[in-house]
Amino acid sequence: MRYLAPDFVVRSFLDITPEDVRELSPDSLAICVDIDGTVTDFHAPEVPADAQARLRSFSDAGFLTFIVSNCSGRRVTEVHRLFDDLVTGVVTPFDCLGPEDDDDTGRSHRKPAPDMLLAVAARYWVTDPATGVERTPRPEELLMVGDQIFKDVIAAKQAGAPSVLVPRLGNRDHVGVRVAQRPVEAVVRAALRLPVRDEDWPHRLTPVRHR
Ligand SMILES: [Mg+2]
Repeated sequence: MRYLAPDFVVRSFLDITPEDVRELSPDSLAICVDIDGTVTDFHAPEVPADAQARLRSFSDAGFLTFIVSNCSGRRVTEVHRLFDDLVTGVVTPFDCLGPEDDDDTGRSHRKPAPDMLLAVAARYWVTDPATGVERTPRPEELLMVGDQIFKDVIAAKQAGAPSVLVPRLGNRDHVGVRVAQRPVEAVVRAALRLPVRDEDWPHRLTPVRHR
């Protein structure tokens, strides 16, 4: 079960501050954020102003910021339109296609696969805080934020990155997720002693103590 546990919980992406990340996850140099249910409602056509401000607060504080989304089809273009100006990079499964993968539809690169996080670690540059030298970030220096254990948390675990679990934002959901995954997630959350009811989620970034 510990394999399914996030490293942190908080009631909203909006409540994660650069100061709290520096204090509680001091190795993190980049924030990688899921979209649907985390930053916006499912397939929302706009990014709320408070979420835009929160993303910008991380870049202003010197973090790299990434959108790491399982989106497909026309939503890929929309996601780039919504987020390209707000973050360091937008990464979708299509950014993980190999040059020889002619029949690769991108499916195998979706979370819970670690591929998008590993792509971030391989392709972007950070300034090493100790030496001031530019280098690629290590996967453990990425902090993944998402609303699904079976997508976001496991993708982070497989990449070797810490993760933050937030409760799903909004009431809409992909039908497969609603039917197949949410009930299982509720059971897993209870077993891991993670917050279940709305009022149980902490207002500040809180480490999960593994028992
Ligand atoms: Mg999500």
